[in-house]
Amino acid sequence: MFAMSRAFYLPYMSRIVVIGGGVIGCAVAERLSLDRHQVTLLERDQLGGRASGAAAGELSPASQSGEESLAMFPELVARIEKDSAMNVEYRVQQGLKPAFTESEATSLKTQSGRWLDPAECGTIEPALTRDIVGALLLEHAHLTPPRFVHALARAAAAHGAEICEGTPATGFKLEGNEVRRVRTSTREIAADWVVIAAGPWTREVASSAGIDVDVRPQRGQLAALDPGSLVLRRSVFWSTGYLVPKGDGTIIAGGTEEDSGFDDRPTLDGIASLLDLARRLVPGLASASLQRVWAGLRPVTSDGDPIVAPTYVHNLIVATGHHRKGILLAPIAAATVAGLIGPSAG
Ligand SMILES: Cc1cc2nc3c(=O)[nH]c(=O)nc-3n(C[C@H](O)[C@H](O)[C@H](O)COP(=O)(O)OP(=O)(O)OC[C@H]3O[C@@H](n4cnc5c(N)ncnc54)[C@H](O)[C@@H]3O)c2cc1C
Repeated sequence: MFAMSRAFYLPYMSRIVVIGGGVIGCAVAERLSLDRHQVTLLERDQLGGRASGAAAGELSPASQSGEESLAMFPELVARIEKDSAMNVEYRVQQGLKPAFTESEATSLKTQSGRWLDPAECGTIEPALTRDIVGALLLEHAHLTPPRFVHALARAAAAHGAEICEGTPATGFKLEGNEVRRVRTSTREIAADWVVIAAGPWTREVASSAGIDVDVRPQRGQLAALDPGSLVLRRSVFWSTGYLVPKGDGTIIAGGTEEDSGFDDRPTLDGIASLLDLARRLVPGLASASLQRVWAGLRPVTSDGDPIVAPTYVHNLIVATGHHRKGILLAPIAAATVAGLIGPSAG
């Protein structure tokens, strides 16, 4: 209520249309509406209905920008939990990266974290395989992605953003090198700025403004295991996947990397590879029951780096290609877009 009355008395800065209601679009909408821009977010289906809702929720940085984005979470989570009245289940916990060979151990010991010998591993995580030469103990953070996406959208709405589900963007009205309006099947929305954050569909959406974006889908599959009486307290990371114990008692096994076009259905081969990995890392999971399997399409670029940048259509920004780290990188992507737009009208 307070946000709505504040929006009534103070003028907006720019009219911004955000296309895509995944984690990137919702984080951008939250940040821009907080900066007093008049935001309309268009989501073709449901908020977080694609990769952003499918993700495991690991916040494990592997780059400088990942570290910077991770550092933004405590403040962002506090703000959106307050503004949305939702709990995104953010927590900092420990994880293990086991080594099966001495050469894997040598490479892991160069990373930050504390090295544990096999006896120490057995003491702190008895369910972990004994077939290792040690493991790196590290701190990482974690949240529940569908809750995070919805909390971002609700917080944006609390700052005055209009959130439209079931509303695909169908085209643009351009004048010279600028977008003037975004089309949907029912209306045209005037825009000072447009942000396309449509995941792997960004290429298709941007093409109707004459822009080619180098992004494609990559399928990732996940399985939720009910471990019965087996206890796993820490996440376990391995080069080809991971096991993540969730607050509801399940363990998530993930995640494959497959070129399947826009087919986001789980397959026998994909799930079998996850289950093999789960058994190798935690042999007691052989008697776990399989609760659920699912898959999502990560947006991935040719060089593997995200694209958060203006295009040659002056007021059109693209924010995509966050591959395996879109949940982690959402805060820094939103801050980058806010920096590109700045405080003044476009
Ligand atoms: C199995 C799996 C596990 C993962 N685990 C993690 C993890 O643990 N940690 C992490 O950081 N990342 C993880 N990721 C990666 C992360 O999920 C993605 O990088 C991120 O969700 C991408 O978000 P996005 O908003 O760019 O795309 P999406 O989530 O795909 O959202 C794009 C949205 O745009 C909408 N859209 C498309 N076309 C239109 C249109 N014309 N008009 C309006 N809307 C449109 C779509 O419906 C969709 O909702 C994982 C991914 C997968 C698949």
